[in-house]
Amino acid sequence: MIEFKNVKKVYPGGNVALHDVSLKIDKGEFVFVLGHSGAGKSTFLKLILHEEEATEGSVIVNDYDLSAIKNRDIPYMRRSLGVVFQDFRLIPTMTAYDNVAFAMRVTNTPEKEIRKRVPYVLGLVGLAEKARSYPPELSGGEQQRISLARALVHSPPIIIADEPTGNIDPELSVEIMELLTAINKVGVTVVVVTHEQDLAARFHKRTIYIDKGQVIADTQGDTLSSPSHAMEVAK
Ligand code: ADP
Repeated sequence: MIEFKNVKKVYPGGNVALHDVSLKIDKGEFVFVLGHSGAGKSTFLKLILHEEEATEGSVIVNDYDLSAIKNRDIPYMRRSLGVVFQDFRLIPTMTAYDNVAFAMRVTNTPEKEIRKRVPYVLGLVGLAEKARSYPPELSGGEQQRISLARALVHSPPIIIADEPTGNIDPELSVEIMELLTAINKVGVTVVVVTHEQDLAARFHKRTIYIDKGQVIADTQGDTLSSPSHAMEVAK
């Protein structure tokens, strides 16, 4: 669960990236967070990951109140979020297997468990046969799926995908979205952060529109006319 209560974020120098944002994303939801460049999407993501702190208001992630979180709880909070970054953030000198295993090794998971779990999550994203490949040998779509496998390795209740269609071919974007939909069907909350209005419109899911640091609309997927209207207004 993610909750923003009257969140304001002002960067040093005075740039106000978010003004008074309040929203709640419940367990099991599939949500698009949509906005133009500069709208505040990255700031929204950084606040959730605790890479930045809110200037005012509170951000609650999986029962952790980030304005009061203890340093020792931060790794646990982060592990409760699986993030697929736009640039994938894979280590090029490690195989696909080791990239995923690395996320478990840093938490001191026993190798025996790693040997079971890594092939399983690589299988979930359809890349079991690429376990020994290095990221530079894989297509963008495959690298992204490795990144998704790594995000899934600790069975997080929430998966966040940052611009999942930004660095891959359009036909592969359908594939990653279908994987995210399948993951959501088994109860994982999915948050897709994107500037692509068409992507959000195709999937008929809840869409939260951010513009100039504010939530300007929050629609359920079946209200088809309002999304484009909100984006038009935001231009
Ligand atoms: P988006 O991800 O939607 O493009 P951002 O969250 O990156 O939007 O940016 C929102 C606003 O905050 C922009 O006006 C941007 O210039 C400003 N901003 C973002 N990061 C910083 C920063 N580190 N320092 C100062 N201003 C920033």
